[in-house]
Amino acid sequence: MEIRGKMTEFLSQEVLAYIGILSLIGFGIFLILLIIGVVSSYLFFRKREFIRGASSRLTSIFLRVLLSILDFLYLPSKKVISILGGNDAMVDIVNAEMRNMLLKKKFSEVPYSERIIILPQCLRDTECPASFSSVDGARCVGCGKCKIYEITKKANKLGYKGAYIAPGGGFVKRIIQRTKPRAVIGIGCPYEVNMGLLEVSNMGIPCQGIILLKSGCVKTDVDLLSVYSVMELK
Ligand code: SF4
Repeated sequence: MEIRGKMTEFLSQEVLAYIGILSLIGFGIFLILLIIGVVSSYLFFRKREFIRGASSRLTSIFLRVLLSILDFLYLPSKKVISILGGNDAMVDIVNAEMRNMLLKKKFSEVPYSERIIILPQCLRDTECPASFSSVDGARCVGCGKCKIYEITKKANKLGYKGAYIAPGGGFVKRIIQRTKPRAVIGIGCPYEVNMGLLEVSNMGIPCQGIILLKSGCVKTDVDLLSVYSVMELK
């Protein structure tokens, strides 16, 4: 009995030691991935023009691997960047940029008539006379007080399937289910664009995101030339 007790004690000590070693290895891997994620985000953020230009198969594989690491470590990466005194929106900007690069080719292959563009309501002027509908979101009446008018005009000119002003988060899913586009453009703050691209691409729809120049709840701003160049992608 005594021998059995000692054996059990030894085995449980051995199991505990294994658990300890495995936990240490797991933590080490997590730490290494976190460092890779944070450093890569920073480098990508600084050199994104260069990476944008280098569109090879190797770059695409590199982007996919990096994006998987950053998606897996999304919250810890943001925490580390803000602890280091950086802007944690950098993670969303970098992730959104990578998704744009990876989806650009498929998006470009979809004809204009099968695409929709979704605009944030914060782009509207504070005195916007647009009416709201739970089905179509806000309907721009073309007063010309904000850039939504220009973007809507451009979408109509190119023959887009639709331009919609989103009154809230759930709207994007609803309008996609209703209009069934084959490609989507979304405009918003870094977080919205990153999450929107993730959600829409998970639905199997190629998409492109454009980040606002100035985020906030009202009177935000977007670079019209950037919007047009994405809308015109072929
Ligand atoms: S242009 Fe359209 S969205 Fe902008 S303020 Fe006028 S009605 Fe509203």
